[in-house]
Amino acid sequence: MKLAEDPHRRLNALTQEWVLVSPHRTTRPWQGEVAKLLAESQPRYDPNCYLCPGNARAGGIRNPEYASTFVFENDFAALKPQTARDRVDAENMGLLVAEGEPGICRVICFSPRHDLTLATMTPEEIEPVVHTWVGQFRELGGLKDIHYVQIFENRGAMMGASNPHPHCQIWGTASIPDAPAKELASQSAYLKKHQRCLLCDYVALEQRQQVRVVCENEGFIALVPFWAVWPFELLVCSRQHMASMNDFSNDDARALSRMLHQVTATYDKVFDAPFPYSMGFHQAPTDGGEHPEWHFHAHFYPPLLRSATIRKFMVGFEMLGTPQRDITPESAAERLRELAGG
Ligand SMILES: [Zn+2]
Ligand SMILES: [Zn+2]
Ligand SMILES: [Zn+2]
Repeated sequence: MKLAEDPHRRLNALTQEWVLVSPHRTTRPWQGEVAKLLAESQPRYDPNCYLCPGNARAGGIRNPEYASTFVFENDFAALKPQTARDRVDAENMGLLVAEGEPGICRVICFSPRHDLTLATMTPEEIEPVVHTWVGQFRELGGLKDIHYVQIFENRGAMMGASNPHPHCQIWGTASIPDAPAKELASQSAYLKKHQRCLLCDYVALEQRQQVRVVCENEGFIALVPFWAVWPFELLVCSRQHMASMNDFSNDDARALSRMLHQVTATYDKVFDAPFPYSMGFHQAPTDGGEHPEWHFHAHFYPPLLRSATIRKFMVGFEMLGTPQRDITPESAAERLRELAGG
């Protein structure tokens, strides 16, 4: 079996899920199909934006005239802190099971400027954003009933982002959500079996092979994982073993700012248009455990496939069977690496 030619499936070592790879279907060179999508230019300030400084949000609360980052409780929070954490098993058959889920949802504006993105902000402008994430992670993670903290950004209308103002969300939950729970199980099993960290070993392997690595700086490495599902998916890992932003130094914050800028600016070069994505940090649960197995990382899941307007859909076999991709992770990495360097 040849990875570059034959249909095969790859195992995601972090989740133990499979992805189907069909390299033979990439008959047309996708570089020839770049369609430019003219970016709608945004104003520096939008009087109708509920995230811009001084504007009113739903419910009449007015944003302060903030000058850097700005954090507030989500006006339409999916979770409430007062919720009772009880369990219902209707008729005691294990078929109608529900649990109360206390939690906190906040919004973090990256900048007072309406027209910026992580790709167009400078690394120096991103640094206060990283420091805000670190502070929020420590604060929410330190709360008794919050056992997991998810920081995530949806960028672009294609990903359902309702507002172009640069912002992200932070949700703290009483339970550990499914995606990190799977990674927790895999990382724990690997540590138990090998007495080493799964992602420390994986990063070392990718650094040795230099096939899927896109870029690297003193603190972080970005690579297209061997098991990537999305065409230009990226995994960003800390080069040193650390579990979460609790372990961050100022140097780490600076290095992450530079890495986030490089990754998002590279994405914007792929189709010469703002690249939509969902990204987020996977950090150790804040449940009071030690978590020696957990290695800090971020996932970038961009939906674009062959042009700025053609997106990948997870439908059909992918919805009912397993995800599938055509462009191999190796060729996606090669393309991103060229753009990251230039
Ligand atoms: Zn705005
Ligand atoms: Zn590690
Ligand atoms: Zn993860």
